[in-house]
Amino acid sequence: MHRKIILSIVAAGLILSTGAIYVKSSEHQAEKQRTRAALSTPDPASMYKTIEYLSAAPREAGTNGEWRAVKYIEKQFKRYGYQTEIQPFPIYHYKTNQISVKINGITINETPEPFTGDASGRVSAPLVYAGKAQKSDINEKIKGKIALVERGDITFVEKVQNLVNGGAIGVIMFNNSPDGIVAGQLPDNVTFPAVAISRKAGLTLVEQLKTTPITANMEVDITKIETTSYNVIASRKPDKKHDTDQIITIGAHHDSVPEGSGANDDASGVSAVLELAKLFAKTPIDTELRFLTFGSEEKGLIGSTYYVNHLSKKEISQIQAHFQMDMIGSKNAGGHHPAGGLIMYTIDGRKNLVTDLSAAAAKQVTFEVIPYGKSGRSDHEPFHQLGIPAALFMHAPVEPDYHKPTDTIDKISKKKLKQTAEIIEDAVYQIADPTTPAISKGKAIQEGVDYPFEDRTLE
Ligand SMILES: [Zn+2]
Repeated sequence: MHRKIILSIVAAGLILSTGAIYVKSSEHQAEKQRTRAALSTPDPASMYKTIEYLSAAPREAGTNGEWRAVKYIEKQFKRYGYQTEIQPFPIYHYKTNQISVKINGITINETPEPFTGDASGRVSAPLVYAGKAQKSDINEKIKGKIALVERGDITFVEKVQNLVNGGAIGVIMFNNSPDGIVAGQLPDNVTFPAVAISRKAGLTLVEQLKTTPITANMEVDITKIETTSYNVIASRKPDKKHDTDQIITIGAHHDSVPEGSGANDDASGVSAVLELAKLFAKTPIDTELRFLTFGSEEKGLIGSTYYVNHLSKKEISQIQAHFQMDMIGSKNAGGHHPAGGLIMYTIDGRKNLVTDLSAAAAKQVTFEVIPYGKSGRSDHEPFHQLGIPAALFMHAPVEPDYHKPTDTIDKISKKKLKQTAEIIEDAVYQIADPTTPAISKGKAIQEGVDYPFEDRTLE
């Protein structure tokens, strides 16, 4: 799961049940027996082995650590008999060679942070205060000037775009909270000198501007460095006699943050993707199954966004559901919530085909009702944007080891791994089972379980 970048998320209200169609419980019992007979149960020991291998080294996108993971994952898929593809894509990072801000010729006494992107430039101009750089803050006064703005309310990209449109030649942004310096992000393909400073330094300048004109001088020198990250794709086509012409995607991300071994985030999800690929390798199916591990999730869902952007129109219409597993194994996550804290997050905070099927499966696997909630921050997001029913499976609230070097294999619960994989296995099979009719996107085929919305925070 990637770091939360924008803090202003509108709290989701309680969303009531959407009135799905239920089948009677006698059918439900029969269904359950049939499902289990056709499928083997996930083996937590083999999932644990995957995590052991992957978490032996950090897997930051674009590094040898990622490549080591990619090769391992590909090898396993091949071993199970899948058609595989390694999909490369470019990622960029930036090296700061020099950064300084002078106010009326005097260097400020803190080190500013450059915005992500190409924030290079050397400019000297009067400083003007432009609020939070909303459209209504932009006027003639900022043209040819350096804008002093406050963080918050709109995205960084929007702020910079508004300033560029208004003719500003640089921006100094101060924090809207007293907690240090938070830099933003530049719009794609925009080079614009942009730095962030602390709230204290920013408010001092706002006060000073009320009485004294200020000339600001910014010198920012940044080098853009391109590296390659990868998605791993494994596909199994349905049996020719029973082909619904539909696709289900099952994903996790294989990259980690630079400082961690990422055992839970997200070697755990990858271990489930591989285990399910193994279990479905020989099962009769009427739906194409695509097992995906994404790179650069931690850098902002870059791999999954690249993947969906390179799907054909036909493939997009064929994909009925996306199951995303991100952080599904920590002993220390989930607090005292039922089923170890397992929750299904959707982008819009609404139920969909994925949550309906999985809630029903969860009831059978855990004898508990798991809730759904509203959150992004993982690779289900780009799928949702295409109108594909998608959900993120994780234990929330997250563990204290999240994004820390302490996210190690000794914190992994085999029980949680098995439980989550089994729920997804059952849910996927509800669609891929060749003895049942094809489902249609957005329509629920649900067994007798209702499950609540929960406004559960991640951290
Ligand atoms: Zn993460």
